[in-house]
Amino acid sequence: MKNTNEMEIRFDSRSVNEGFARVAVASFMTQLNPTVEEVADVKTAVSEAVTNAIIHGYDNEIHKVSIRCRIDDNIFTVEVCDRGKGIEDIETAMRPMYTTKPEQDRSGMGFAFMEAFMDSVEVESEPGKGTKVKMRKAVGKGREIWTTQSL
Ligand code: ATP
Ligand code: MG
Repeated sequence: MKNTNEMEIRFDSRSVNEGFARVAVASFMTQLNPTVEEVADVKTAVSEAVTNAIIHGYDNEIHKVSIRCRIDDNIFTVEVCDRGKGIEDIETAMRPMYTTKPEQDRSGMGFAFMEAFMDSVEVESEPGKGTKVKMRKAVGKGREIWTTQSL
């Protein structure tokens, strides 16, 4: 039988909540018995997506950001959604070093980090409607193999 579990959180787009979101997601994923590195990877990816929702999606206005997490056996899926301004050209936005806020010392590496630390990153966005970043990662598999071998 498949091991599944889901959770959803919704919070104000305040930068103080970026740390909360990261820890909430990390805490939910511990049931997969992740490695320290896997937890760090997911935390980084979630931080980048939430920061983007706050500073780009909502231009630092206070609205709601939601995160949905799902576990399907060892596959961890996390979606970060805003109902902000959206992205006109997703392909360009995802290019390393592309940023629309260079004046704020942004380096345009957020999506590149998400792609580096997760197994897949899919972005759905519509100008004026908002953005959904869906990321997946196989988690805890190394541990399982290790445990089986050491029995
Ligand atoms: P960094 O993440 O390195 O601080 P950045 O946020 O500009 O810089 P990315 O995270 O890669 O870089 O995002 C690239 C661009 O995509 C942003 O500059 C912005 O124009 C757009 N973008 C990303 N997320 C959103 C979002 N949720 N809503 C609207 N635009 C977004
Ligand atoms: Mg960013």
